[in-house]
Amino acid sequence: MNEILKEAKLIEDEIIQIRRKIHREPELGFEETKTSDLISKYLNSLCIETKILATTGVMGLLKGNGSKTIAIRADMDALPIQEENDVPYSSVVPGKMHACGHDVHTAIALGAAKLLSKMKDKINGNVKFIFQPAEETTGGAKPMIEEGVLENPNVDAIIGLHVDPDLNTGEIGFTNGKAYASSDMFDISVTGKSSHGAEPHKSVDPIVISANIINALQTVVSRNADPLEPLVITIGSIEGGYARNIIANKVHMSGIIRMLNEEKRDETVAKVEDIARCIAKSMGGKAEFSRIAGYPCLINDEKILKILKSSAANIVGEENIKNVLPTLGVEDFAYFLKEVPGCFYKLGCGNKAKGIDKPIHNNMFNVDEECIAYGIAVHVNTVINFLNNDLRKDLRYKKILKNMINYSDSL
Ligand SMILES: [Zn+2]
Ligand SMILES: [Zn+2]
Repeated sequence: MNEILKEAKLIEDEIIQIRRKIHREPELGFEETKTSDLISKYLNSLCIETKILATTGVMGLLKGNGSKTIAIRADMDALPIQEENDVPYSSVVPGKMHACGHDVHTAIALGAAKLLSKMKDKINGNVKFIFQPAEETTGGAKPMIEEGVLENPNVDAIIGLHVDPDLNTGEIGFTNGKAYASSDMFDISVTGKSSHGAEPHKSVDPIVISANIINALQTVVSRNADPLEPLVITIGSIEGGYARNIIANKVHMSGIIRMLNEEKRDETVAKVEDIARCIAKSMGGKAEFSRIAGYPCLINDEKILKILKSSAANIVGEENIKNVLPTLGVEDFAYFLKEVPGCFYKLGCGNKAKGIDKPIHNNMFNVDEECIAYGIAVHVNTVINFLNNDLRKDLRYKKILKNMINYSDSL
């Protein structure tokens, strides 16, 4: 067994207890006060200084020898779901549950902090631990960045993980490049003119207008978008009308746009708005459109992915490294990747033999806790490999090599 994994196994029980403690008392976005407290106290006990950012977020800094800094990010918030698991550490808070594994992410980052603090003399740089609130709602990453979490010292690279029940414990998943979608939320209000249902000629029917808008919006996907570029437009809610024999005066719809092409994002939203407005107008009504821009597209950095992948292979073996396709789900780790190079990976947590196979956000979601030691070991090994290999030297070497090749080509 790999040495770092052995070390992680030694602290596994302690970290599982921390995970269970967080699991029992889930807290929603920007309300993670108990979790935040637990994290600060634990890091302080390891002589890691901490700072509170973005209401409940925690930043810990482990100072090593050297000027490079790598960050490990974990999210802390739970979901408004009633837990149905019957385990000794089930949620004791009605209607709240860690159904996305953020309890596990937090525990793993604390485990990594413990191992790294023991070897800080041997690492050539600093490690920043970023525990962010509210990944499930409006996002804690952006406010933490705005409050300077990536500065003092400046972060050179960042890594993070998400548990994945579709992968078995002991498997690690990677997605090259674009991994999670950008998100835009929109509202369309259609105004018409009401009348008796039997006298449509005296009305402007917003329900008929809305039906046309909904149909036409799908042509943005089928006729405007490049068929090789994923795009989803979903109208998730629609309301309007009073009774079967009354033509309504107003309809309200709301929906989402998800895509992997950040450059086409504004153009796509504008097209949706245009279709809504023009169809309403052409039928004698009016449509108002509003957009709330959500998380950006998450794009993994090629170089950091390479370091992470080989570090993970040291821990779980090459055969357990899996390719994971991109998703149109979202993840606010994307904000960190807009600032610094980094990589987000998937930690297998499924185990069919143990009956652990529920998807995330399910009220019976759970993880095979054996995944925790793997997560700790992959984080730690990546930190060591990043800090102790001088990439800059590597790049210089490549440049010299390239010049030599060009020189020999010209001979
Ligand atoms: Zn989630
Ligand atoms: Zn999540």
